[in-house]
Amino acid sequence: MADMDSARRQRYLRLMGIDVWRLRGAEAAEPFVDVAPGAAEAPQPKAARPERPAPRLPPPAAPVRLAVGARSAPPVIAAAPAAEHRPAASPAIVVPSDWPGLRAAVKDCMACKLCATRSNTVFGVGSETAPLMIVGEGPGADEDARGEPFVGRAGQLLDQMLKSIGRDRRRADAAEAVFIANVVKCRPPGNRDPEADEVDACRPYLDRQIELVRPKLIVALGRIAAQRLLNSDAPLSKLRGPLYHYGARRTPLLVTYHPAYLLRSPREKAKSWADLKKIHQQLGAVP
Ligand code: URA
Ligand code: SF4
Repeated sequence: MADMDSARRQRYLRLMGIDVWRLRGAEAAEPFVDVAPGAAEAPQPKAARPERPAPRLPPPAAPVRLAVGARSAPPVIAAAPAAEHRPAASPAIVVPSDWPGLRAAVKDCMACKLCATRSNTVFGVGSETAPLMIVGEGPGADEDARGEPFVGRAGQLLDQMLKSIGRDRRRADAAEAVFIANVVKCRPPGNRDPEADEVDACRPYLDRQIELVRPKLIVALGRIAAQRLLNSDAPLSKLRGPLYHYGARRTPLLVTYHPAYLLRSPREKAKSWADLKKIHQQLGAVP
C-alpha cells in the first residue's frame, strides 16, 4: 500500500483541504477491515460494538414487475399528474439481461412516477466489469440535465474520494475501475428522497447492473441508499461499519457517508477516510 502515499494522491487530498485523507505508515498497517477474506457471511462486529446483530439481506425480488411494457400505453411523460401513475397494473416483464437491452429499457422506462418529471434517465457510468460498484441515492438537477450520476458538487467530491483510493470512473483497468449508479435512475422532484415505491420499481435495473458488473464490493453512499439496499430503517451511524452481503450472489457491501453530507459536515471526513481505507482493503482482500 506504499503506492497509496504517492505524491499525486496526496495532491488530490490537499486540493480538497483534507490533511487527514492520507495513508500514513502506521495507519496503513492497522487491521481496520473487520471481516477477513473468505469469512462467513455474518459480519464480525468491531470490539467497540459487540452488541451488533448480524445483518442479513434478503435476496433481490424476482421475477420483475415493471411497466417497461408501457411503450404501448398512452404516453404519460409530462401529461399525467404523477399521482395517477399506476405501474402495478402492467404485466410482469423480464428486465433485459444484456447491457444494450438494459440501457434501452431504462431510457424508455415509465415504471414509476419519476418518469413524469425527469429530463434524462441516469443509467450509471463506469466500467461494466468494475470490481467496485458505488450506489447513490438518485440523480439531482445536474445529473438529470446531463444523464450521468454524480456530476454536481457532491460528484466532484466523490471523484476525489475515489481518486484517493486509486479509482476513476473513466478507467477500465480492474485496479482503477469503478461503476457508479443510484437506487433510482430518475430525479426525484426538488431533490426529495426517493419514495419506497419508486425504489421498488427501479430496483430490478440496479439488481441487473450488479449481476452484469459482478463487483467484488458494493458501496452504498448515504442513509437512503443504505436503508433501501439493506431493507432497514436504521440511521446511517448504525448501518455504517459491518460488512454486509447483498443479493443472490451475496456480494460484499459496505456503507459510508454520502459526499453531499460530507460537504455539509466536513468534520465527518476523517471517518469517511477510514471507510475509504476499509473499502480499499476489502477490494484487495477479495480474490
Ligand atoms: N447524489 C446522488 O445520490 N446521486 C447522484 O447521482 C448525484 C447526487
Ligand atoms: Fe423507471 Fe427507475 Fe425512472 Fe422510475 S426511477 S421511471 S423505475 S428508471
